[in-house]
Amino acid sequence: MKVLVAGGAGYIGSHCVRQLQAAGHSPIVVDNLVFGHRQAIAADIPFYPLDLGDHKAMVRLLDQEKIELVMHFAAFAYVGESVTDPRGYYENNSVATLRLLEAMLDVGVGKFVFSSTCATYGEPEKLPITEDLPQSPINPYGQTKLDVEHMLKAFAHAYGMSFAAFRYFNAAGAAEDGSIGEDHNPETHLIPLVIDAATGKRENIKIFGTDYPTPDGTCLRDYVHVDDLSRAHIAAFPLLENKGQQLFYNLGTGKPNSVREIITAVEAVSGLKVPLVEAPRRAGDPPALYADSSKAMRELGWQLQYPDVTKTIETAWRWHRDHPNGFV
Ligand code: NAD
Ligand code: UDP
Repeated sequence: MKVLVAGGAGYIGSHCVRQLQAAGHSPIVVDNLVFGHRQAIAADIPFYPLDLGDHKAMVRLLDQEKIELVMHFAAFAYVGESVTDPRGYYENNSVATLRLLEAMLDVGVGKFVFSSTCATYGEPEKLPITEDLPQSPINPYGQTKLDVEHMLKAFAHAYGMSFAAFRYFNAAGAAEDGSIGEDHNPETHLIPLVIDAATGKRENIKIFGTDYPTPDGTCLRDYVHVDDLSRAHIAAFPLLENKGQQLFYNLGTGKPNSVREIITAVEAVSGLKVPLVEAPRRAGDPPALYADSSKAMRELGWQLQYPDVTKTIETAWRWHRDHPNGFV
């Protein structure tokens, strides 16, 4: 299938491009490189340095490349920034997605895969999180993603568009061969920051909160390997053949790991000591978020190749050790 990967030069998108190629599909990447890296995409993959909001150019691209399905990873994803700059987040995440969907309607492309997030659940009523729990985001980032989920439902109903919205938990890890990995600037995610503290690239890792109602007082999260995420996306393709499909899936391992456990695992994998500082809680962090992903497993036949966070950290460690300056 000819698949347009919006945001394909970013962390998760670039891994998905690899998986698409491996599965025999033809990925085509569009990315304005506001984040993301041209080097994360192999030279033989068609690459368009466009903004999704450029309606005319997007229509031309969808038409000329005869795109059959769009995977949409392009977004701003810094929770804190979304609180201080909600305007930019609504513009780039909600409005630009509307523009993309409009371009798809204009050309008659009816299949869509969307990167949603566990942040749409806010502070969940119960754990593990199932897809039927109420969604009440506690920051504008989560709200923009929920807005798109609502938009998609309406578009499926009104225009027969088929979509799968994947609510990722914490994406982590890197390609098994170490060739691509996570390179965000600024980096805010725990695992790369702990690795940087281990290698001395940063002075220490600050543990945000040690007084949570969790076994060791630090937050629990569900770290799911980026290649496992990508495989779930591709597994949804056959279901999208039916018009008007509305699919929502959590993607996580189901295993909660605390901040302290991640630090210990990085020390074990790297053989290095991680200097740490206990710091106050970070605003907006729920104590625990982990997934019940049995729906994706049941309906998509999704299986985890990285059920254990240590294996995921091993891949992240190899990438960061061998690319201390990321893609540059
Ligand atoms: P990323 O920043 O690495 O990748 C996003 C890519 O989209 C970047 O390459 C950026 O240049 C591009 N982009 C952004 N706005 C664009 C626009 N208007 N036009 C064209 N290109 C644009 O992010 P990521 O970590 O790979 O996340 C991918 C998606 O998954 C995001 O939508 C994010 O909200 C979602 N998500 C990520 C996580 C995580 O743990 N990383 C968790 C849940 C959900
Ligand atoms: N965290 C931390 N120190 C850091 C970065 C993150 O203690 O420097 C914690 C954060 O409070 C959260 C967990 O690590 O409990 C995962 O945070 P991350 O930003 O990676 O992902 P999030 O769960 O916020 O999407």
